[in-house]
Amino acid sequence: MADTAKNGPLDFTTFHNIINNELSPTSTTRHSINPANSKPNPEVPVATQEDVDRAVKHARNAFKEWSKTSFAERRAALSAYADAVDANADAFAETLTMEQGKPLNQAATEVGMASTWIRAMIEIEIKDNVIEEKDDLKIVQRYTPMGVAGAIVPWNFPVLLAMGKIVAAVYTGNAVIVKPSPFTPYCDLKLVELATRFFPPGVIQCLSGDDTLGPMFTDHPGIDKISFTGSIATGKRVMASCAKTLKRVTLELGGNDPAIICDDVDIDAIIPKIGILSYLCSSQICMMIKRLYVHEKIYDAFLEKLIAFVKTLKVGDGNEADVFFGPVQNKMQFEKAKELFSSITTENLKAALGGSIEESHGYFIHPTIIDNPPESSRVVQEEPFAPILPIMKWSDEDDVLEKANALDTGLGASVWSKDFERATRMANQLQAGVVWVNSHFDVSPKAPFGGHKQSGMGVEWGLTGLLAYCNSQTQWLKKSF
Ligand code: NAD
Repeated sequence: MADTAKNGPLDFTTFHNIINNELSPTSTTRHSINPANSKPNPEVPVATQEDVDRAVKHARNAFKEWSKTSFAERRAALSAYADAVDANADAFAETLTMEQGKPLNQAATEVGMASTWIRAMIEIEIKDNVIEEKDDLKIVQRYTPMGVAGAIVPWNFPVLLAMGKIVAAVYTGNAVIVKPSPFTPYCDLKLVELATRFFPPGVIQCLSGDDTLGPMFTDHPGIDKISFTGSIATGKRVMASCAKTLKRVTLELGGNDPAIICDDVDIDAIIPKIGILSYLCSSQICMMIKRLYVHEKIYDAFLEKLIAFVKTLKVGDGNEADVFFGPVQNKMQFEKAKELFSSITTENLKAALGGSIEESHGYFIHPTIIDNPPESSRVVQEEPFAPILPIMKWSDEDDVLEKANALDTGLGASVWSKDFERATRMANQLQAGVVWVNSHFDVSPKAPFGGHKQSGMGVEWGLTGLLAYCNSQTQWLKKSF
C-alpha cells in the first residue's frame, strides 16, 4: 500500500541544497535560464567549500550505519523512493522542460526511466564469489562499499543520469553527494529532497553551485569515488584531480557515434528510426547517431526520404503540443553550435536541409543535414551536440569500418542491414562500448554502459556498473591455525 505522506507532492517553487536531510540555505544564490524563452529560472544555492566539507562529514557518518544495512533494507527504501518519484512525475517533467528545454513528452519519458532504473537495478544481485572451498579453508571474493561517492551530472539528462548514480551508490551501501550541472540543478535538488523521506540523514545529499564546485568534489579527501558524466575535456581534468587522492573514478564522456546503413535495408521502415535517433533531445545525447554512413547504392533515395521525414518534426517551446525539437540547452551550447555551423561556409559543405541558425527568443536550432562532407570536415570529426547531421556515402565494407573506428571516441555505434549475419560480422569489428544491430541508443538499467577510447573509463549500470561502487575484498578464511 502506497504511503500517502511519503508520496505526497513536493513543492517545486523553492530550491535548496540538501545536507544531512535538511534544506540548507547558502548566503549567495544564482539561477539558470529557461532555454526556450531566455527567462530566469528560480534561484538556486551556490554551495561553498564549507558546505562540501559539511556534506562530506555527514556522508562519512551516515556511511557507518548505511554500509551495514542489508540489500533487502536498501531495496525496500529504494523501491519506496521509486514510488514517490512516480507520484511526483508530472512536476518533475514540467521542471525538466523548464530547465533543460526538452519537449514535455521527452521529459516525461526521462522521469519515467528514472523510476524504472531504480526498480530494475535493485533486482540485480551482488553475490560473493567463492573461489575455493575445502574442509579447513574458504577463499571468497566479496564486494564492499567504498564510502562516499560524488555524482557529477551533466545538463542533457539530469534526471536519469543523476538517478543512475544515486541508485548504484546507495544500493551497494555507499553514501552519495550529487552535484548537478549549474545549467540544470532544479530536478536534481528535488530528487534528493524527495529522497530525505526514505533514507537516513547523510545517505543522499545534493549540492548545487557554480563552476567552482566540481573541483571541490574531485579534490576532496573525504570523497572515495567520483562518478562523472560529461565532456571529454572535463573528464580529463576530473581524472587528474582524482589522482591526487587516488579516488576511484568512472568517466562517462562524449561520443561521435557512427551508424552504418547497408544497401539491403528497407529504407521506408528505418527512416523514422534514423531520424529520431539522430535528433532526439536536439541531438544533445552522448549516444546519438552523429555520423551517418549510407551505402552509395541507396544514398540518394535515403537522403531524400530522410529530409522529408525530418521536415515533419516540429521545432518549438517544449511545452507546445507535438514539438520534437526543443531549444538547445544553454547559451554556451548555442554559441558552440553557431561556430560549428560556420564551417558549412568556410569548408564549402552542402547543406541538404537547414544550414543556418537564426536568432530568436530562445536557443532554437532547426535540423540540418550535411550532404556527403569529407571525412576531414569538422561536422564529421567533432561531436556537435546540436542538430547537425553529416551523411556520407560508402561502398567498401572494410573502408567504412575503418572510418567508423577512426576517431578517438568510441561510445556507441550501429550497423543496419536485413542480413543479420553480415551486420553482426560488421558490428563485431566496431570499437565502441555499446554496439547495436538495427537499432541505436537502446539502453537498459541491467546492461552495462560506457565508452571505449576517450569516451570513458569503466561502465555504469548493470552488475558491472554496480561493482564500480564497490571495493573487491578477498578473504582467506581458515578454520584452524
Ligand atoms: P561538462 O563536462 O561541461 O560538465 C559535466 C559536469 O561536470 C557538470 O556538472 C559540470 O558542472 C561539472 N564540471 C565542470 N568542470 C568540472 C571540473 N573541473 N571538475 C569537476 N566537475 C566539473 O559536460 P556537459 O556540457 O554538462 O555535458 C555534455 C557532454 O557530456 C557531452 O560531451 C556529452 O557527450 C557528454 N555526455 C556523456 C554521457 C555518457 O554517459 N557517456 C552522457 C551524457 C553526456
